[in-house]
Amino acid sequence: MSSYQICSRCVYDTSIEDISFTAEGLCSYCQKYDNLARKYINIPKEEKQKQLNVILSKIKRLGRNQKYDCILGLSGGVDSSYLAWLAKDLGLRPLVVHFDNGWNSELAVKNIENIVTKLNYDLETYVFNWEEFKDLQRAYFKAGVVDIEVPTDYLIFAVLNKLAAKKGIKYILSGYNYATEFGMPKGWNISNKFDNKNLEDIHKRFGKIKLKNFPKFGRYQIFYYQNILGIETVPLLNYIEYVKKDVKHFISKELDWKDYGGKHYESVFTRFYQGYVLVKKFGIDKRRAHWSALICSGQVTQEEALEDLKNSPYDLELQKQDFEYVAKKLDFSQDEFNEILKAKPVPHSLYATENPNDFSWNFFNAVMSFPVRIRRKLRHIGATGKWR
Ligand SMILES: [Zn+2]
Repeated sequence: MSSYQICSRCVYDTSIEDISFTAEGLCSYCQKYDNLARKYINIPKEEKQKQLNVILSKIKRLGRNQKYDCILGLSGGVDSSYLAWLAKDLGLRPLVVHFDNGWNSELAVKNIENIVTKLNYDLETYVFNWEEFKDLQRAYFKAGVVDIEVPTDYLIFAVLNKLAAKKGIKYILSGYNYATEFGMPKGWNISNKFDNKNLEDIHKRFGKIKLKNFPKFGRYQIFYYQNILGIETVPLLNYIEYVKKDVKHFISKELDWKDYGGKHYESVFTRFYQGYVLVKKFGIDKRRAHWSALICSGQVTQEEALEDLKNSPYDLELQKQDFEYVAKKLDFSQDEFNEILKAKPVPHSLYATENPNDFSWNFFNAVMSFPVRIRRKLRHIGATGKWR
């Protein structure tokens, strides 16, 4: 076995299974980041502004006769909260949608209320059937797989797209950004959150009730929404200077936003999952990814990140409380839950998975390529008046 090594720049180390280093000690994830940065992040300000203007004029033009020109998913976290402010500042008219999976912290609810009131937005809250959602989350725990957030991530994307389709809205604003999110190491999450086969197999084996309300949103549905209906997800924060520290300060001042003390900790479940389950059962500390992104975009130093990583992910007393709360809410006895968290991790691939290259999918894509090309051209003409 080779010896321990940590990247010369970020805080990824040899605990990551597919990591490699240059002779100078720079890790493969930093190299990927640099390639991305050359193309998308470290481009001149004027160029970014130009790209942003193109997107904004498309959104405004396609939505000009509608009440809303875009949809904005608001979790109450830093990124989506700032995005809500930015959309207003840029003159967009979003319908704000919050997906409530039953795990919101009280603080998140308060933050969302404040934002929507201050910015004078309409809010639609989507509450998924709790018994079904609980059954799915229980199944993922029992399956022993790493990505227990699949049900949430899958549903958010499905809900936003379906609502966009229903209302005839063509754009979904996303808070995803390169400056604070980093390539997740292999094995830290499932590679395809919309792998229906995997989800269905895990639920078939470990679930108890039928999922009557669960919207199917796999690759065929995504293809339909994106290519036929022309619904596009726009990562708006990638077109502006995004400095986490400044943004937090700004939204606290402007929107009365209160900090949760950790990335994605607006949800009690995500706090427990990232700060406890991943760390204890899977040996994964997502703070490493969050810090590494901030280091690469020059927002913190490696020393600061390493100093923070010496602390436990979050308050130990709160971890204990969360353990009891999550177990109870998911109908696990404490012993049962303990056993689940101690059991050996199981790869997602142990269950049925979709083959990204199977015949029917390739055939479908080949058949659809012509109408999709025409569809894109027509949309371009609709937006610019020019055939390109
Ligand atoms: Zn690195």
